[in-house]
Amino acid sequence: MSDNWLQYVPLDPEFRPTELAAETALALFSRFVPNADEVVFSFKQEIEFFHPGANWAGVTCSVCGTNVEPWWANKMDDFAADRQFDLFVVTACCQSSVSLNDLGYVWPAAFGRFVLEAMNPNTLGLSVAQESQVEDALGCKLRAIWVHI
Ligand SMILES: [Zn+2]
Repeated sequence: MSDNWLQYVPLDPEFRPTELAAETALALFSRFVPNADEVVFSFKQEIEFFHPGANWAGVTCSVCGTNVEPWWANKMDDFAADRQFDLFVVTACCQSSVSLNDLGYVWPAAFGRFVLEAMNPNTLGLSVAQESQVEDALGCKLRAIWVHI
């Protein structure tokens, strides 16, 4: 038995919508994925990493394109050990200053403090128009992550 989630995480990892905005976005999203098993949102105490699970396909430097997975894994250990960890880091491949949130996740992944998610949405995803309605409700741009467990 495997499950899929469609998650929406604000592009700005620090962004937290108001409770009212979250409820409004939840109602919209629920309407867009009527066959989902469950649609929920959650606020996180600290920034968390939203991992696509079995969909994970590696990570590259967003500046030079190098495969940075081993370096990234070390940074993720630092992140796990210190939740005040600064997401802005200098890459080992080309010494570029980048946010861990903006690396080239081959399959989308994200850092954030808020997530709106649908379990087994039974859809190929929202249309661009639907996504922008949810974004307007929350007051932020979103990144879609498909999680497969
Ligand atoms: Zn690089």
